[in-house]
Amino acid sequence: MMGQAYDPSNVFARILRGEIPAQKVYESAYALAFHDITPAAATHVLVIPKEAHVSLVDFVANASPATIQGFFQAVTETARLMGVEESGYRILANHGPNSGQEVPHFHVHIVGGQPLGPLLA
Ligand code: 5GP
Repeated sequence: MMGQAYDPSNVFARILRGEIPAQKVYESAYALAFHDITPAAATHVLVIPKEAHVSLVDFVANASPATIQGFFQAVTETARLMGVEESGYRILANHGPNSGQEVPHFHVHIVGGQPLGPLLA
């Protein structure tokens, strides 16, 4: 199935290009992590790959194994830097219409810093 074409004007692409500001937490060759502008928990950080991929499916299908590994290492490193590794956290990635994915550049949400309760409460 053909995926959705990548739109380089999306807000996370603009953050990557430095066109709009973001509160950065961590950066590597593979990923950038920054605070969500509308936090849903005490800790809510987004991690995005530097490569252009619309969503999880596109990322896994088209990124190299080194890029995928580097990305997920950035996710765990970001959580560690945010101080939630010991207390625990949740990661989440939206894909497709039912998920309500808002920004069409693949991203993982890291939420924590408080008890999170059931997933879909
Ligand atoms: P999605 O629903 O696509 O998985 O989540 C997109 C997330 O990006 C939302 O939680 C939203 O608050 C966040 N967001 C949208 N626009 C901006 C922005 O300009 N800057 C930052 N830091 N976060 C944003």
